[in-house]
Amino acid sequence: MKPWWADGVRFACQGSGRCCVSRGAYGYVYLTLEDRRRLAAALGLPTRRFTQLHCAKTDGYFHLKDDGPDCRFLVDRRCSVYEARPTQCRTWPFWPENMPARAWTAIAAFCPGVGQGAKVPAARIEAVLQEQRRSTAKL
Ligand code: SF4
Repeated sequence: MKPWWADGVRFACQGSGRCCVSRGAYGYVYLTLEDRRRLAAALGLPTRRFTQLHCAKTDGYFHLKDDGPDCRFLVDRRCSVYEARPTQCRTWPFWPENMPARAWTAIAAFCPGVGQGAKVPAARIEAVLQEQRRSTAKL
């Protein structure tokens, strides 16, 4: 059976930063080793130092330190490490757990990018979902 998004979904990031604010199940920004290396390089730090300064580990998984509702790299509602942002951020909102219709409705309630812009084709959505699945497997 085709998914509900088989004809594409309209989405265009509006730069609201709302996906960079912790809310329940979306609390942590998880990081693969590649994510940590990329962020460390962007900040001019050795990966180990970046990890000491900016990461914590929960249940064996690295994530950005969680010191408040806003991500520590959110500055003036903008990502200050945008070019090097983690895969989890890069693939938003096309995560496997967001794609059931009911979950997508919940996303639409706080993300103003949902319903904006041109349709993202199903093939692109599937590619992003695969990227997110690969990333999750590397955590
Ligand atoms: S790293 Fe950047 S894109 Fe990701 S949650 Fe933090 S501010 Fe947002």
